[in-house]
Amino acid sequence: MYIERLHLKGFKSFGASQDLVFSPGLTAIVGPNGSGKSNLLDALRWVLGDGGFQRLRIVRQGDLLFSGSVSIPPATRAEVALFIRQDGTAGAESCVLKRSFSPETGAVITVDGIRTRLSDLDAVKRLWKLEGDQFAFIGQGEVAEAIRQRPAQRRAHLELLFGIDQYRRKRNETSAK
Ligand code: ATP
Ligand code: MG
Repeated sequence: MYIERLHLKGFKSFGASQDLVFSPGLTAIVGPNGSGKSNLLDALRWVLGDGGFQRLRIVRQGDLLFSGSVSIPPATRAEVALFIRQDGTAGAESCVLKRSFSPETGAVITVDGIRTRLSDLDAVKRLWKLEGDQFAFIGQGEVAEAIRQRPAQRRAHLELLFGIDQYRRKRNETSAK
């Protein structure tokens, strides 16, 4: 699986519609301070269902909206679409996860154009082996935090990454009945 394309419009510093096209393999994004590298990671986190203000480096949801520049007016809607592709496998070969926000409609998530609840996004992510995203994103200053993790926290992260957490959850649900 790889990210084929990331579409951004009105999201944080990405006022104009932009499509970043990626290839399989390693991608490095470089640029001067304040050029939007971390905003791109914020976009990835957000489209994958993360709504944590601290992780997204915002104070309120409205901070996701492009605030305007000399040439581009402020955005009334922020949208991010993630195009992922699986090469050489049967079944679903590509998928488009999209998340948008506007003060009028609130946050809307679609998967291949079909409106999806945030809680149902987990199943889609599991199908695409994207459920370990909490572990995969290591933001600026988070390396030290990862090192300081207690064994139980580290184990929980690894279980999430390898998809074992779902079995633990199912077992707990069964034993609670
Ligand atoms: P560094 O190398 O310092 O980590 P960076 O490339 O990661 O920099 P970002 O943190 O992604 O930079 O981008 C910061 C810039 O994004 C700031 O200039 C900030 O003003 C701008 N920005 C953040 N939110 C918005 C918004 N809602 N509207 C417009 N610009 C925004
Ligand atoms: Mg940064």
